[in-house]
Amino acid sequence: MFCPFCRHPDSRVVDSRTSDDGTSIRRRRQCPHCGRRFSTTETASLNVVKRNGVLEPFSREKIISGVRKACQGRPVTDGDLAVLAQKVEEAVRASGTSQIEANDIGLAILPPLRELDEVAYLRFASVYQAFDSLEDFESSIATLREEHAGRARPVRSVDE
Ligand SMILES: [Zn+2]
Repeated sequence: MFCPFCRHPDSRVVDSRTSDDGTSIRRRRQCPHCGRRFSTTETASLNVVKRNGVLEPFSREKIISGVRKACQGRPVTDGDLAVLAQKVEEAVRASGTSQIEANDIGLAILPPLRELDEVAYLRFASVYQAFDSLEDFESSIATLREEHAGRARPVRSVDE
């Protein structure tokens, strides 16, 4: 990183801090040549490849607006949606990729949405996975039912 003042090719980091949302690091640097200070920001880039091949930066807002419609009338708050978008971003970043297909974003949305609200999940899945028959719904619902049945039921205590 060249010093922006004297073009000296080296600089020393005097302070680093992570941004509030945890997605970037801001560093204060000092030039050992002219002694002036400047800041740099590092962000691990994450881009979405749209169906038409255009790259666009990953956006939690877009995740939220994509899911909001499926959540209409459901007991899902804006806070829930923000957490969901964060989970999606974490899942995508954890895969270590810097580019993700728009289609795969949909896949990353399904698990946390299912945890949040199964009706919203079915609505979203029906659009995203292009359900075109009642059988598609039936098999999705059957899968959800099976998994409910497989879950350990809470044990009630006698004095309840
Ligand atoms: Zn300098």
